[in-house]
Amino acid sequence: MPPTITKTALAAARSCDVRAYRSLIKGDRWTAPRPPTVGALIGYRARHTAVAAIHRLWLRRSTVDPAVLPDLWANAWMQAGGSDEPDPEGLAWLEGYVADDPFGLAPRAEPAGRGGAGRRLVAVEQTLRTPYLDRTWQARPDLLVEAEDGAIEALELSGARHPLLDRHAVEAMAAIDHLVMGGPGLPAPYCARPHRVIVCALQTYRETDVTLPWPRAEGLLADIDAWLAGLATGVAVASPSADACAGCPYRVDCPDAWGGPTRLTASMVHAASPSYDPFATVDSG
Ligand code: SF4
Repeated sequence: MPPTITKTALAAARSCDVRAYRSLIKGDRWTAPRPPTVGALIGYRARHTAVAAIHRLWLRRSTVDPAVLPDLWANAWMQAGGSDEPDPEGLAWLEGYVADDPFGLAPRAEPAGRGGAGRRLVAVEQTLRTPYLDRTWQARPDLLVEAEDGAIEALELSGARHPLLDRHAVEAMAAIDHLVMGGPGLPAPYCARPHRVIVCALQTYRETDVTLPWPRAEGLLADIDAWLAGLATGVAVASPSADACAGCPYRVDCPDAWGGPTRLTASMVHAASPSYDPFATVDSG
């Protein structure tokens, strides 16, 4: 069975056709563990994990006691691969996020947040799949919410300083989110509602509506399908670069890898991150 097309796999594969061929056509599992998470990436992942935990509490209509935040942040920090003391700046940021509720998600009677939208949470990190063009397309929006006007919104949270910089990745994400929100993953009454895709910047609290008109989304999905069909013929040219190859799971045996194939030994990985599970991070959304 062909691999499921996810927006994250697609974004990663776009950097190199050989990588795309192996991940999206052949369905090779990661052949090497990704390097242990370092530096800023730990903080980024920890913030994502921590806000997901907050959103799950809000989804159950629980209020969040500020006293639980240090433990919640410490757990998120560890899950993100941090082995030293949790970053205190991240905790301060999390406390601010809960107090500000910038995207209007907390369960309260009055509309809240700078977004000004009294939203109702519908799901947190729910995987949605839809068959389309003889493939299975999958997305896992960070949040699905019902907006005040009744529309169903996929909120994609980003910790990046410039979350809209990669226009192709943002448009592919918007097209796939749009597709799956109309598919069988959502309860029928939600499928028929208007859908929006919103990028929410965690650093600036800025919201950007990146919804594509359906004809544009349809055209983009057809382009992706045609690109994948071309790859399936077996003609794929490598595009090695320091950036692409550093995070590529196939560098272990790729003759074109930037600087040559890199072999990470199990002991190197274990020493850097004892609890590291190479398959736990296989893309799912
Ligand atoms: S290691 Fe580099 S050249 Fe080889 S598949 Fe990965 S991204 Fe492409």
